[in-house]
Amino acid sequence: MIVHPKMRGFICTTAHPVGCNMNVRHQAEYARQHKINGPKRVLVIGSSGGYGLACRLTAAFSCKADTVGVFFDRPASGSRTATAGWYNNVSFEKLAGQDGCAFISINGDAYSDEVKKQTIEAIKSLPGGQVDLVIYSLAAPNRVNPRDGQKHSSVIKPVGKSFTGKTVDFHTGQVYETSISPASEDEIAGTVAVMGGEDWLFWIEELKKSGSLAPKAATMAFSYIGPTLTHDIYKDGTIGRAKEDLEEKCTMINSLLAQDGGRAYVAVNKGLVTQASSAIPVVPLYISLIYKLMKEKGSHEGCIEQMVRLFERVYSGGSQPNWDSIPVDEKGRIRMDDWEMDDSIQSGLDKLWAKVSTENLEELTDIAGYREDFYRMFGFGIKGVDYQADVEI
Ligand code: NAD
Repeated sequence: MIVHPKMRGFICTTAHPVGCNMNVRHQAEYARQHKINGPKRVLVIGSSGGYGLACRLTAAFSCKADTVGVFFDRPASGSRTATAGWYNNVSFEKLAGQDGCAFISINGDAYSDEVKKQTIEAIKSLPGGQVDLVIYSLAAPNRVNPRDGQKHSSVIKPVGKSFTGKTVDFHTGQVYETSISPASEDEIAGTVAVMGGEDWLFWIEELKKSGSLAPKAATMAFSYIGPTLTHDIYKDGTIGRAKEDLEEKCTMINSLLAQDGGRAYVAVNKGLVTQASSAIPVVPLYISLIYKLMKEKGSHEGCIEQMVRLFERVYSGGSQPNWDSIPVDEKGRIRMDDWEMDDSIQSGLDKLWAKVSTENLEELTDIAGYREDFYRMFGFGIKGVDYQADVEI
């Protein structure tokens, strides 16, 4: 089949298998070039895209770790392509196999008890039968809480007041003002239930109870803060409430892990184009400005560069880290957004933000780089791929 990008709203409903494969290979190659004396057995929850995929690649190809990956993706059926994450996982497995790293992949709902049980069985079947690092990198629209059967949905809305701000339709290049009314109490609670830390805590409780965590095991989940101009919609909005909950649960997880010398962290990552972030108003315009400024300064990173740097930071003292030597902020978070939040970048941003419009978008921002990264996520627009060729989906 000849596969073209097909858009519906914020997502591309097709994915190119050869392009996705190239994408994973490029990231694996970067990871291979950065050897890290890091964890040896790693569980990644949310391993087929964005930051989670980059973590699994770093674990396998920088650290030579065996990995278990959990994700929720759709295989191809009839003339419908698989999701990008499904192709990414196939490519990951091929490369990990070639490098002699053991791997087990579980495609199912990570929020469910069943997938947690399946994962524990998978960990037990690996050499050693335990993991020394658990990455929690889910971004999902819905969650069914397995303990009470309640279904929750997450929304991206401001809290307590309406939000009006600039955003961009990155397909047409139109910059316009968008207004979003405040979330209801139910919407706030729903977003916290889906994107907060409760499920992370459930995972660690189950893993600990089943003896699947090695002594001194670490776990990390990801957050975002961003500059003031995105706070109303992100940090102070529904998703920010969920991230506050993630930090609260991090404290609880820390108490659980401390008994065996382990540690839990929230890492605050850079804002990047992923399937999750492209759905947030304002963020695409902000990211296209940040891309421009950071590329000019030579400090731009993608998911793989961010995650390799994170692993290097955490494991700088070797595979058994000295937790107290890992640099953290006043709230104990690892700040991988340090280069994004650098004063020179943020003051440049403020100046450009005031001026940016439909007319000067291409000149003031790196909207071209944003678009490129968006299509690349689905395997399109990648050099060396013949998009006119008939491919097996
Ligand atoms: P993503 O959409 O690229 O990846 C999400 C992953 O979760 C995929 O592997 C997907 O298959 C998996 N997933 C979704 N629902 C699932 C389910 N029910 N069961 C199993 N797997 C499921 O997302 P991302 O942008 O990499 O986000 C990961 C984390 O990083 C989130 O917590 C996000 O808030 C955080 N973060 C993202 C950014 C950003 O700019 N993208 C910045 C900082 C922090």
